[in-house]
Amino acid sequence: MSIQAARLDSNVDMTISAKSRKLLWGRSGNRCAICKRELIMETSKEDDESIIGDECHIISGAQNGPRYDTNYPSDQVDGYSNFILLCKVHHKLIDDQYSTYAHQKLVQIKAEHEKWVSKQLDNNNILGESIRIKKVPGNTPAYLSRITTGKKLLEVVLNACAFSFDHDDLDDPAHVDLISGFLQNAQDWGDIGFDNIGDKVKIGYEISEIIKELEVAGFWVFGGREVQALEGGSGGVSDWPVATLRVLRSNNDEIVKTPVGEKGV
Ligand SMILES: [Zn+2]
Ligand SMILES: [Zn+2]
Repeated sequence: MSIQAARLDSNVDMTISAKSRKLLWGRSGNRCAICKRELIMETSKEDDESIIGDECHIISGAQNGPRYDTNYPSDQVDGYSNFILLCKVHHKLIDDQYSTYAHQKLVQIKAEHEKWVSKQLDNNNILGESIRIKKVPGNTPAYLSRITTGKKLLEVVLNACAFSFDHDDLDDPAHVDLISGFLQNAQDWGDIGFDNIGDKVKIGYEISEIIKELEVAGFWVFGGREVQALEGGSGGVSDWPVATLRVLRSNNDEIVKTPVGEKGV
């Protein structure tokens, strides 16, 4: 079973959320997880050259569907982790040969594909040869500012094209959970954005609470935004904002007090 992007507004059982589909397409680099061909989401203009992507269920929600599993929680069937982005050829393949392409096998293919995409991005390959990302002289912030509110955090991550996150060494599993969850969410918020100001205010408030929790655990959040330039390809030069976040122990001696009284790293 799959949900075709083209049917987004029709009345088929369109159950994947906007958040999940943005994550799925973004982390897949708009490419089939098996053949890596570039896929498109839009099908309104019938363009012969474009290959349409299918958002495929890993475990079908239908009893006679591929890889159906009575033990799989039904509330997770339409979650991000149960979708894989594929071209039509490979969608058909995994559904026809569902024993070869069993649950764990597909989970592994998806994870490896997403790792491949993020490696391409780290190497600034942007999955094309002629595109480069360059630092713009003068745009690199000398200091990262301390972030104490969700509103400030959103200013750093919203609509960023790339994320550079890091944290101090951790030895307590509770801190690992807290910080990895926080950074993962920060990237999700940045990737997805908000449909309306109400959501933004609400999430901003929730983030402020998490930042306070981090502070109680002994961690401070620092962040900054650097606009780099994307060059080449067909579109000339365009802005490539990079969001940087660091979660540091409050006693880290790299933290300095700047003249204006703000903390920086
Ligand atoms: Zn399917
Ligand atoms: Zn494919």
